Amino acid sequence: MSAVLDLLRPDLRDFAGYPSARKTQARGSVWLNANESPSPSPADEGRSLHRYPDPQPAELRSRLAGLYQVDVSQLMVTRGSDEGIDLLVRAFCRAGRDAVLVAPPCFGMYAVCARIQGAPLVELPLDDSNGTWSLDLAAVVKAVALQGVRLVFLSSPANPTGQALPLEQIRWLAQAIDGRAVLVIDEAYAEFSAQESACALVADFPALVVLRTLSKAHALAGARIGALIARPEVIGVLGNLSAPYPIAEPSALVALRALAPDSVAESLRRCGEATARRDALARRLGQLPCVGRVHPSDGNFLLVRFHCAEAAYARLLGAGIVVRDVRAMPGLGDALRISIGSDADCELVLATLAAENGA
Ligand SMILES: *Cc1c(COP(=O)(O)O)cnc(C)c1O
Repeated sequence: MSAVLDLLRPDLRDFAGYPSARKTQARGSVWLNANESPSPSPADEGRSLHRYPDPQPAELRSRLAGLYQVDVSQLMVTRGSDEGIDLLVRAFCRAGRDAVLVAPPCFGMYAVCARIQGAPLVELPLDDSNGTWSLDLAAVVKAVALQGVRLVFLSSPANPTGQALPLEQIRWLAQAIDGRAVLVIDEAYAEFSAQESACALVADFPALVVLRTLSKAHALAGARIGALIARPEVIGVLGNLSAPYPIAEPSALVALRALAPDSVAESLRRCGEATARRDALARRLGQLPCVGRVHPSDGNFLLVRFHCAEAAYARLLGAGIVVRDVRAMPGLGDALRISIGSDADCELVLATLAAENGA
């Protein structure tokens, strides 16, 4: 058995999952094994949605593998990264015993999934006292060794703080905790950063997992399609834990269209424009009297500290602009997170805050 499977919950080691109708090896022309309707819905529009979908739509899986430059056997199609996070916590953490490590302020779903599974949460706060967010990697290694951590979740670029983790640090950490814990790099915003992806490292580190999504750069948040990239043995185990037919057929179809070469090129071009708008917005926000500091960002958002975040939030809301209030997160009591919208959205944010009269 591969070493990474030693980290799996022992009670799941021989678990084969639900033997769904689409998993059968049987081949035929009359399908009577899933209690489906024999004819499509009147609302169907020619999609054959009366049949259960392929649990891992083959063409979509291979297109995603091509996009992220990994082998098909290293990739699982997910209902967004959220499903990947949930499956990982279920697979590797026994309730009340095996901990999840996060570096707050960070994406909230890691802690939510840990909570639902009953897994202890170990928090190792990021430090921004030097003007850039940094993570104490040696402390991560120590926590893994001493606090029963089975899963380490880091996002790169990180939400809401914006910084990307250099690939050498990811490699160092994967090496340092190898055999003890699974390292998960959540790359939801990778397309907005010049930082190289960690996908290629999966071949070298059995306990490294990378999460990607079509929700941000590919503008398909509503379709719920993501990818989990890991060693084939990990993909196999997670497939057994997932829902029987996780990927809705209409979502798979629109994702396939989004992965046609022209669509990918257009999406990446738009990411380039968004990063340019982001950097321009950061510069201009930094000149406003109400703004204390704009954190550098490798994502499609800015983390902005205000002299009075309450007043800024209210002022934006008064103009109909809803930004993310992150003030409850550790160390962010004066901050708001602003997504990079259209040119007009950015102008409206600037005009609204400029009118704020030194708040
Ligand atoms: C937005 C985001 C995701 C995306 O989740 P999906 O379920 O794929 O939509 C994942 N991780 C982080 C850190 C995010 O900010």
